[in-house]
Amino acid sequence: MALELTPAAHALLAAWAALVGAVVGSFLNVVIARVPAGQSIVKPRSRCPRCGSAIAWYDNVPVVSWLLLRARCRSCGEGISWRYPLVELLGGAAGLLALERHGFSARAAAELAFVALLLALAFIDLDTWLLPNALTWPLLALGLVAAPLRLSSAPSSGSALAGAAVGFGAFYAVAVIGEKVLHREAMGFGDVWLLAGLGAWSGAAALLPIVLLSSLQGSVVGLSLIALGRSQPGPEPRAPGSGPAEGPAATPASGPDDAGPGPAAEARPGPDALDAEEAWVPPRHSVPFGPFLVAGALEWLYLAGPITRAVPALGLFH
Ligand SMILES: [Zn+2]
Repeated sequence: MALELTPAAHALLAAWAALVGAVVGSFLNVVIARVPAGQSIVKPRSRCPRCGSAIAWYDNVPVVSWLLLRARCRSCGEGISWRYPLVELLGGAAGLLALERHGFSARAAAELAFVALLLALAFIDLDTWLLPNALTWPLLALGLVAAPLRLSSAPSSGSALAGAAVGFGAFYAVAVIGEKVLHREAMGFGDVWLLAGLGAWSGAAALLPIVLLSSLQGSVVGLSLIALGRSQPGPEPRAPGSGPAEGPAATPASGPDDAGPGPAAEARPGPDALDAEEAWVPPRHSVPFGPFLVAGALEWLYLAGPITRAVPALGLFH
């Protein structure tokens, strides 16, 4: 930081950054709930999904309200998911880290925006197996705009462009790794846009460690599920009426095409694609790949130094 701050002033600024991040996290909760459903993220005000009563500002304070309400709606007592305070806490951490890493700067704001988009995408993918274009395209745009302004991790504009192109093209390579390691047949197109966005922000060289980290963690989780005997493929109970159960060979594991609502969803289709989309169900107890890509990207963003000290070969990509 250019300014010399007293410890008290620094603590105040850090608390403010964490609060800004938590408010961003609170907004992300709205994004996570509404974007996959194609609803506005601006209107109406937040309401309880069960009783419909509007949520007052004092019941909408990040983390604090959830604790004070003891995870229940004030009006009807409906449980409020732990995801709300978790996303707010993660947002707060992202705000604090951005300030500590880059000071009070445009670069800190850009990093908070990048991490916020990734958090929204990860939780939406966990929830719905979708990575909406409405979020992956802004991620890609943010990476491409931030690079020439020196506001991202990409070392240059060229590296950001190459990262976007390689990330997009690496779809095939990752699909092969996914099939071999995760027993998943293909990646959805949402994963391709996500990887393009990660490449644009991080630069082409960072894609390899990011994909390695996410595949490693994805395979640990996948193997754990197998070890727990919970990996039998089959239709999820939450997808009734989606046709007869199909064997594993007939159900690609990563989603109809993962792109979700957005302009491109209209551009694709063909009756076959629509049928596949309706018939597709996630394999039982499996997990989507997007959250692992996000985890890998965040680990490389924050921990590239320690990771390359532990695995010096990865220093080539740092
Ligand atoms: Zn309620």
